[in-house]
Amino acid sequence: MQFADLGLRASRGESISPEEALAILATADDQILDVVTAASKPRFAFFGNRVRVNFLVNLKSGRCPEDCFYCSQRLGSSAGILKYSWLSTEDAVAVARTGIAAGAQRVCLVASGTGPSNREVGKIAEVSRAIKAEHPGVEICACAGFLKDGQGEVLVDSGVDAYNHNLNAASSHYPQICTTHSYADRVDTVERAKDSGLSPCSGFIAGMGESHEQLVELAFALRELGADSIPVNFLLPFDGTPMKGTNHLTAHDCLRVLAMVRLVNPRSEIRIAAGRELHLRSMQVLGLHIANSIFLGDYLTSEGQPGQADIDMIADAGMVIEGAEHAPRATPDKTDEVALRRRGAGTQVQANA
Ligand code: SF4
Repeated sequence: MQFADLGLRASRGESISPEEALAILATADDQILDVVTAASKPRFAFFGNRVRVNFLVNLKSGRCPEDCFYCSQRLGSSAGILKYSWLSTEDAVAVARTGIAAGAQRVCLVASGTGPSNREVGKIAEVSRAIKAEHPGVEICACAGFLKDGQGEVLVDSGVDAYNHNLNAASSHYPQICTTHSYADRVDTVERAKDSGLSPCSGFIAGMGESHEQLVELAFALRELGADSIPVNFLLPFDGTPMKGTNHLTAHDCLRVLAMVRLVNPRSEIRIAAGRELHLRSMQVLGLHIANSIFLGDYLTSEGQPGQADIDMIADAGMVIEGAEHAPRATPDKTDEVALRRRGAGTQVQANA
């Protein structure tokens, strides 16, 4: 394989072909540095040495009526997660503040469920307005399930910049990971978000038993959809879900998946999302040479590495946090954040799975 040629073409904004994408996923472990180097070309061409830091605020957790097999918040899940309905605006803003103080440039406001009611969209809008009033330069991404007519516009009016709705699995794989909605439903919401003027953020989860062909199918589907940002998750096999014990990925697999997605979507923000610490472990820093974005600290229902470790890793890689190059940073205070989440919960409180 002509790795240098792939990197050169991608750094001109061109996608590699489906055949080349498949070949990337089939490379041997002793070629991993060639793969990373090729994918680093467009990464540095379009994003320099900047890393975008995102921070999750889980507005509503658990008790979802959908049955996504990988999800700790699914119908019937017995995963030991926090379950609560809607943080107050005051608490949500306080949680967001901890991430912003540590350098997060984007705050992701997430709520579990099939899709928001208009009243719930109003709650997200209220939180967005409150965060923007304090931090006008910070971007807001909402993630609350399937959108209905007019909801995207309400979010735009409140200052929400982007909407996340992951495809999660390829069309041909979708019936094996969920029975309560379809792949087409997910595409519809990404399109609605885009049509409302929200920046489309959509990605997937690797490690759910999919084939290489299905991963390539996803990467091209996201290119077709025009996803501005692509979160790449690596399955966290929660106890209490049908995916319990599923652990097919090596750190090298994860790097190959990230590289393939980067080379198919050279100009998109590629975010290493959940599973980064579990699957990439000491190879995380190589992932930063492919992806230009990470979440800081914890995920929705699982712990990440401490925020300071993320910040140190970025510095060790010779990279800088986007938009906060000269700002002083404070580590997000995990204790405060959990306390705030509990205060909003008022119901079942357990250690994160
Ligand atoms: S992924 Fe979303 S829609 Fe699916 S079960 Fe989890 S919270 Fe519900």
